[in-house]
Amino acid sequence: MSDAISFLSPRADVLARRAHIVADLTDLLPPECLVHEARELVPFETDAFVSYRRLPLAVALPRTTAEVSAVMRYCNRYGIPVVPRGAGTSLSGGAIPQEDAVVIGLSKMNSILEIDLPNRVAVVQAGVTNLNISESVSADGFFYAPDPSSQLACTIGGNIGMNSGGAHCLKYGVTTNNLLGVRMVLVDGTVIELGGKALDAAGYDLLGLVCGHEGQLGIVTEATVRLIAKPEGARPVLFGFEASEEAGACVADVIAAGIVPVAIEFMDKPAIEICEAFAHAGYPLDVGALLIVEVEGSEAEMDATLKDIVEIARRHAVKTVRECQSATEAALIWKGRKSAFGATGRIADYICMDGTVPLSQLSHVLKRTAEIVDHYGLRVANVFHAGDGNMHPLILFNANDPEDAARAEAAGNDILRLCVDAGGCLTGEHGVGIEKRDLMRHQYSEADLAQQMAARAAFDPGWLLNPSKVFPLEGRPAA
Ligand SMILES: Cc1cc2nc3c(=O)[nH]c(=O)nc-3n(C[C@H](O)[C@H](O)[C@H](O)COP(=O)(O)OP(=O)(O)OC[C@H]3O[C@@H](n4cnc5c(N)ncnc54)[C@H](O)[C@@H]3O)c2cc1C
Repeated sequence: MSDAISFLSPRADVLARRAHIVADLTDLLPPECLVHEARELVPFETDAFVSYRRLPLAVALPRTTAEVSAVMRYCNRYGIPVVPRGAGTSLSGGAIPQEDAVVIGLSKMNSILEIDLPNRVAVVQAGVTNLNISESVSADGFFYAPDPSSQLACTIGGNIGMNSGGAHCLKYGVTTNNLLGVRMVLVDGTVIELGGKALDAAGYDLLGLVCGHEGQLGIVTEATVRLIAKPEGARPVLFGFEASEEAGACVADVIAAGIVPVAIEFMDKPAIEICEAFAHAGYPLDVGALLIVEVEGSEAEMDATLKDIVEIARRHAVKTVRECQSATEAALIWKGRKSAFGATGRIADYICMDGTVPLSQLSHVLKRTAEIVDHYGLRVANVFHAGDGNMHPLILFNANDPEDAARAEAAGNDILRLCVDAGGCLTGEHGVGIEKRDLMRHQYSEADLAQQMAARAAFDPGWLLNPSKVFPLEGRPAA
């Protein structure tokens, strides 16, 4: 192993440092598990946030927990920052190396280790994709509930990192409600187990802390997740309204009435048009806002729940109510919704905000969002998990125009402040990452932040794990 490496050296030393580190990592990993040529590092320089780019020093792709532990031990010994990475679909810059760092990618740890149907759990490696879990138990009549729109690509390790949600989380909860245990490598290479197949492990709820840790408390290598029995039936229904405010008020009233459908998703007019042009899902184009409400259960249960929802929607002058008639139609309706971000990317550059608000504030926040974006001379498409109050304004701009990009960022920040001021928070599911780090002070007092950073320091005293994310940089321990 090499001698200690100073990370305070000037940038001119980066190549030499990389060569040094790669030589050392070669002792720990076989060549196919190490990426270090500049050209091959390019895919790892950013994630779905794309606003920042920085090449990692090297990328380690371990195959086992023992290999993760060996790389972590090495990096910790020489004070090398480490950025854990799943599929790199983070929308807040969570997986971008913002300093000279080694990226540890979990893509080779992609095995389903155990399906335990009697106990309704699966044990999987961290690099398994979200959809893969559901697909592997579908024939037995089960599924894994959290369903981010990126589920084809994103990994369970990334889902845990961001406490990810999805369209069907209104009823079943987000990742934290469906995670039972993890195996995790700490910054010094120690391997720990939190939780397991049994419910409610004794002691502090460290599993709750790890869910949403944004790669700062350790590297998750295995997860034990809850499996849910598929319902007898499920039916998405389209509700079209004249305006966004009416749709927002309808959502608030449905939840206030104690009705919990599986999903309530919202699209405004620009989002309907964008998604319809892409997916041909059959969305009505003569409405100003659309709700996709999914109910499930027996036919009688679905009919009864729908009757109550339709009654509430009528109070908000619903224009269209269309029940889905077939499995093909249902699949198309969800395809349209789940491809919203990709479909938007076909027509413009966009940044996707991720604030959450109390449902009673939905209408107000939608109206103010339109005013804010208008003030900056930009356009917005809203498509989001309305039942959870988790808003995703997609602010459209031209990335080739730096002034337009600055306006989009300013509008996004104003919208997030609006969410906080309305009693909500900066992120529903995409995490803080780089994107919202400097807004954390708008949400939290210094004392709140200090306590969160103390919890972080208990796991990673030197801030080696994903160091530039989540917390204002001044909180970093002195080098
Ligand atoms: C088109 C599109 C649609 C999306 N839709 C949704 C949605 O509906 N709901 C939603 O919640 N999100 C959504 N996202 C955001 C993103 O997919 C999620 O945040 C996802 O969980 C990230 O998973 P990943 O494997 O890509 O992780 P990455 O992006 O690679 O990493 C995410 C974070 O987790 C950390 N991390 C990754 N793996 C590990 C590990 N094994 N151990 C410790 N830390 C780790 C990283 O350091 C980083 O901080 C969407 C993204 C896109 C591009």
